[in-house]
Amino acid sequence: MTAHRFDSTVLREYDIRGIVGQTLREADARALGRAVGTVVRRRGGSRVAVCYDGRLSSPDMEAALVDGLSACGVTALRIGMGPTPQLYFAVHHLDADGGVMVTGSHNPPDYNGFKIVIGKQAVFGEDIQAFGSLAAAGDFEAGEAAPEDHDVFEAYIERLLQDFDGPSDLKIAWDAGNGAAGPAMRKLAERLPGEHILLFDDVDGTFPNHHPDPTVPRNLEALKEKVLQEGCDLGLAFDGDGDRIGALDNEGRPLWGDQMMLLLARDVLKERPGATIIADVKASQILFDGISELGGRPLMWKTGHSLIKAKMLEESAPFAGEMSAHLFFADRFYGHDDALYAAVRLLNALGTWGGSLAAFRDSLPQVVNTPELRFPCPEERKKPVIEEVRSRLAAAGAEVDATDGVRVREGQGWWLLRASNTQDVLVARCEAPDEESLARLRASLDEQLSLSGITSKEH
Ligand SMILES: [Zn+2]
Repeated sequence: MTAHRFDSTVLREYDIRGIVGQTLREADARALGRAVGTVVRRRGGSRVAVCYDGRLSSPDMEAALVDGLSACGVTALRIGMGPTPQLYFAVHHLDADGGVMVTGSHNPPDYNGFKIVIGKQAVFGEDIQAFGSLAAAGDFEAGEAAPEDHDVFEAYIERLLQDFDGPSDLKIAWDAGNGAAGPAMRKLAERLPGEHILLFDDVDGTFPNHHPDPTVPRNLEALKEKVLQEGCDLGLAFDGDGDRIGALDNEGRPLWGDQMMLLLARDVLKERPGATIIADVKASQILFDGISELGGRPLMWKTGHSLIKAKMLEESAPFAGEMSAHLFFADRFYGHDDALYAAVRLLNALGTWGGSLAAFRDSLPQVVNTPELRFPCPEERKKPVIEEVRSRLAAAGAEVDATDGVRVREGQGWWLLRASNTQDVLVARCEAPDEESLARLRASLDEQLSLSGITSKEH
């Protein structure tokens, strides 16, 4: 195979993603197969697990990817269609030397992409760019291998159920949003005790009911209606490829990533007192303070699921998560973000809590916060603006955390400004005990933005 160039927008920080037929084609999938196969061969490996999501373009992309792997002499272990965490599970279960997931995650139907594991670790940053360099140079290993079919579905469901010790009388509404988690969600619900109501569990790559992104409130409307109508104890939802979870309490109100984490942290810290728990800079102060109160060691880290995963390994943290609702368990599990596994642990944690999910939600300190605010900013200005804001605040004696952008404590609240890893925007969030303080924080943020010439009128 000769050299291949990927569209310049396709190789991103955490994954590979493009618009099918425009920036991403089967030729890209084939070249990626060769590049991944080459890296695996050069590390002494020979077997790579492959899985694909429910998008219309996914089967063809998978076939081209498998072609590329085979042409390197790497055996593709094809596990068929499933959510991303099923691929991660297969890498462990089949003891593969890597894995590739064909998925457009929660993006619109015309998108697709790839998430890659080398050895047992998710690949990100420069290692993703390296696939592009190998392809551009046509620097590929050559060989011949026949793909193998492997059915890991039952083993995967068994593994999820293995750690269930929650209440047996829960009534639960589930929503897969017609994403790839549907069949596993259905099987899991079937095998769990209690009463289960399933929504949109058929895989349909056109996403006819709602977009499979449970961090957006309007995508939880149907689930909310079911929870209220049927008097459920909770509602659970999954994103298009099953690595992010959404939850509604028994009153139909969402629990965001940091709120779910605090409930889950109670269980983790009971078994592992003093453990380190990692959350990204977008998470509420309530979470970090709550972890401390439970006797744990809270650690704030950079946003981005690959970065969180890497930090988790470095710190031997049993549990980590993001506001975007990627939840990672190394406690009893493999350390990756599996939303179905997180659902099982959430049921356990609800049992430990003993009350309703609404009561848990109401037990948290009340705060008001802004949604994620996004401000357009040219790529080359992103880092300088953050640096300018940081040094102005430092000069003024403000309490600034520079883990990822600037996170500033002001009074009883805080605000965050960081550069998006994936888009030409600055991202901000403010949180305060009341509306009045929130308005003050928002004014501080706006002032800093305008001092750096960024228009603070929201994107
Ligand atoms: Zn996802």
